[in-house]
Amino acid sequence: MAEQKRDYYEVLGVEKNADEAALKKAYRALAKKYHPDMNPGDAEAEKKFKEASEAYAVLSDPEKRRQYDQFGHAAFEQGGMGGGGFDFSGMDFTDIFGDLFGDFFGGGRRSSGRSSNGPMKGANIRTSVRITFEEAIFGCEKEIELNTKDECKTCKGSGAKPGTKPVTCSKCNGKGQVVFTQQSFFGMVRNVQTCPDCGGTGQIIKDKCPDCKGTGYIPIKKRFAVDIPAGIDNGQCKRLAGQGEPGVNGGPRGDVLVEVIVGRHPIFQRQDQNIFSTVPISYAVAALGGDVMIDTVDGKVVYEVKAGTQTDTRVRLKGKGVPYLRDKNTRGDHYVTLVVQVPEKLSHEAKELLKKFDEATGDSLNAAKKYTDSKSGSETKKKKKLFDL
Ligand SMILES: [Zn+2]
Ligand SMILES: [Zn+2]
Repeated sequence: MAEQKRDYYEVLGVEKNADEAALKKAYRALAKKYHPDMNPGDAEAEKKFKEASEAYAVLSDPEKRRQYDQFGHAAFEQGGMGGGGFDFSGMDFTDIFGDLFGDFFGGGRRSSGRSSNGPMKGANIRTSVRITFEEAIFGCEKEIELNTKDECKTCKGSGAKPGTKPVTCSKCNGKGQVVFTQQSFFGMVRNVQTCPDCGGTGQIIKDKCPDCKGTGYIPIKKRFAVDIPAGIDNGQCKRLAGQGEPGVNGGPRGDVLVEVIVGRHPIFQRQDQNIFSTVPISYAVAALGGDVMIDTVDGKVVYEVKAGTQTDTRVRLKGKGVPYLRDKNTRGDHYVTLVVQVPEKLSHEAKELLKKFDEATGDSLNAAKKYTDSKSGSETKKKKKLFDL
């Protein structure tokens, strides 16, 4: 016989009549202290950790604790009086370790709580649609075509050949999940996995439906009319609820998510609910004031430019912006930057008139000449001196 095993109550440091809470508390403290993650490379700590885990595994199970109380360690030795060996495969440590060490057991804990063959919502289908700048502002209807799945009419989604029925999976007894054990620092740990035989459905199809090859679904192309609301912006999604892939085991269908890609506009820029653009105005209009035509998403509007408008003046066209998604009757504004244009090509007549205009408004064309003429003497000398240096 190998080394003498310590008494389980002694290992945990609890009384013989300790209740479940006391056991758990004692084990938690020991597990925290001796956990291999906190004592890397310490063989003694690992041994203590395993010992405490084993003790807790036995004492926290009422039936095993009864056997241990009656027969001691012999209860779990091969051929012992308790009848049959004992291993840790039946233990579920995930409960206690879940909150103690967080995600120590990976996905096992999360999936252990629910069966995977219950009703599940079908997958969402993502797609995108291109629309113009104006379509985004006023809304539109677009038709899209999608590859999706529908329930097979031949087998009504069961996947079994008509006249036959799927049978309950013998590996998982229809649960869709199998429990497997894993060697860990503190013995065997129970874990839960999707059943490999039935893929989690809990059923095995012996005679497959010829039309869907046992999947229960047939691939189809489906056309949808997508009602795109006024005010939608680039990158936003329109959801078609319940139009996605069929659910599993009676679950609802998934959704179709249509992402909207909005094209650029040659003159308008959009920022949230506002539209921006630039409009050229002539010098005459800027100086004298007058009406200009401005393009908006609603068409051309006449805007009255005030006399004496400087270039880059920004004006606001209230309510000519983008509608709000929640209320299409409320709209943002359109901001227009007025840019005064300088003429590049002028007729002889226009040039003469402009010279006359200049004479009448301060003679700017001759201002520099007048200045140099008035200072000709001293100024030229100074310049000469400077250059001589
Ligand atoms: Zn079928
Ligand atoms: Zn199975």
